[in-house]
Amino acid sequence: MRPLFAITIAALLAVACSRKNPALIAEVQAFIDGYAEQWLDLYYISAKAEWQSNVEIIEGDTTNAARTNRANEALAAFTGSVENIDRVQHFLEQKKKLEPLQVKQLEAILYMAANNPQTVAELVKKRIAAETAQNEKLFGFDFQIDGRSVSTNRIDEILSTSDDLAERLKAWTASKEVGIGLKGGLANLIRLRNGTVQALEYEDYFQYQVSDFGMTVPEMVELMDQFNRELRPLYRELHTYFRYALADKYGQPVPDLIPAHWLPNRWGQDWTALVKVEGLDLDGALSQKEPQWLVRQAERFYVSLGYPTLPASFYELSSLYPLPPGTPYKKNNHASAWHLDLGNDIRSLMSVEPNTRWYSTTHHELGHIYYFLAYTSPAAGGANDRVPPLLRGGANRGYHEAIGSLMGLASMQQPFIEAIGLDVGGGEPDPIQTLLQEALDHVVFLPWSCGVMTHFEHELYEKPLAINEYNRRWWELKAHYQGIAPPSERGEEFCDAASKTHINNDPAQYYDYAVSVILLFQLHDHIAREILEQDPHATNYFGSKAAGDFLWSIMETGASGDWRAILRDKLGGGLSARAMLDYFQPLMDWLQKQNQGREHTLPEL
Ligand SMILES: [Zn+2]
Repeated sequence: MRPLFAITIAALLAVACSRKNPALIAEVQAFIDGYAEQWLDLYYISAKAEWQSNVEIIEGDTTNAARTNRANEALAAFTGSVENIDRVQHFLEQKKKLEPLQVKQLEAILYMAANNPQTVAELVKKRIAAETAQNEKLFGFDFQIDGRSVSTNRIDEILSTSDDLAERLKAWTASKEVGIGLKGGLANLIRLRNGTVQALEYEDYFQYQVSDFGMTVPEMVELMDQFNRELRPLYRELHTYFRYALADKYGQPVPDLIPAHWLPNRWGQDWTALVKVEGLDLDGALSQKEPQWLVRQAERFYVSLGYPTLPASFYELSSLYPLPPGTPYKKNNHASAWHLDLGNDIRSLMSVEPNTRWYSTTHHELGHIYYFLAYTSPAAGGANDRVPPLLRGGANRGYHEAIGSLMGLASMQQPFIEAIGLDVGGGEPDPIQTLLQEALDHVVFLPWSCGVMTHFEHELYEKPLAINEYNRRWWELKAHYQGIAPPSERGEEFCDAASKTHINNDPAQYYDYAVSVILLFQLHDHIAREILEQDPHATNYFGSKAAGDFLWSIMETGASGDWRAILRDKLGGGLSARAMLDYFQPLMDWLQKQNQGREHTLPEL
């Protein structure tokens, strides 16, 4: 045994020596360290400017916008610099001689460069200008009903609550008007985005975005199709159930495809408002609390999992509550979590009020915050030395959102709510109605995200789709995946896809959200069954150090590992809708009974 062993070791060493190159490794490390130092400086300046632009919006004042633009331009000039691109490409040609962590960082540098390579500086400039113009048109659009300006909040309110079909139709139609003026800009942006990344030899912008997952486009599209196939039987039952329920509600014949203006969301991506669950008065219990209680409660929960308390700077620098009346500026009311210096400057932007939505949102946003801490701060027991700044992010783009959403879901389960001492009135909510409402959020979202959005953007960038095909193709996909039809014929004078923000300014990565939903149910199923040994429909994560350790072990490696390997190690498999289907199985049984004798109109996939 021994001699053989020795020979094997010697052989391995010889292989290792011929492959790795210590001088090159040192040279690359010096480059990465130098790059990261300069990049972090510029990144922090840009993040602080963006933060300021979000927490202090002064009408008519352009100081913030100008500072943010300057900071972003400086960052873009650095990340896209010809010199940096040349060096990284040169190093990556010798990949095999480098450490895997170095290769990951070089690839991250190149990925950032591809969004604004200075080798095609003119094109990048045009793209940034076109994006700004498109955003101004989108956010500055004057939505009108009957000639009167309305906010999109008002449109959403009508679609969520009105029983009057004529009023609903007007609101839905008004919401799509914005697309008309965005169509030309969108076609132009597709050309410019493709051109920019093609300068670094990506095939098109869709392929560029997918490459961040270490996947090919066919692999990503197949993964999304797999989710759609897995969920189709359940979605089909939901679709059938609401074709009948809504036809009955509006006194109309049962349609094959659900008219878009019958649904409580402009894109039919979230139907939760169709169901009211009685019996759990969380809003009532929370209305007795101060907004500060909600944030501290969310922190107490994470501390109960064995995590550190939040740094004092979090409370000093965050913007957590609505502005007091009379404040001479506004703030962005959309919740977000920020890691400004990829170090200890961690903040959240919220407008917390004591209600159910903000209760679950505080748990969600603090999930992102603890994810930041896990891969950053050695004081927090994190893996700072293992996760260099360039790799401080989620294992893939879906992971961060999955952790936040998981905690939002956990915080809404009844045993959890009772454990933290909220008095919700002792009523028993109907478990099927609760599941139905959850399905109208998560299940309904998947044909939209995996089906319509992914396939439309794939064709938009890869083919690319001709401008006179946008609307036809959009509605074909809506019919095929979501089973939704426009209220009446929508010709190419419209561009209904462009009414969706992400199509304009967060392009070709909507599948991230689908990944996060699938993953959240896989994580929840594992924690409930394997760690807490509780029913996934009625869990209490509070105080479970074992659940805390499990999640921390996923978060602490940031983007330094392979996201698929993490999944295999922690959950014993790949991404799959299995856990989600198990979760909704009682609902599936119930829906099949309700739908007995009814005709399904959605085709199999
Ligand atoms: Zn989030």
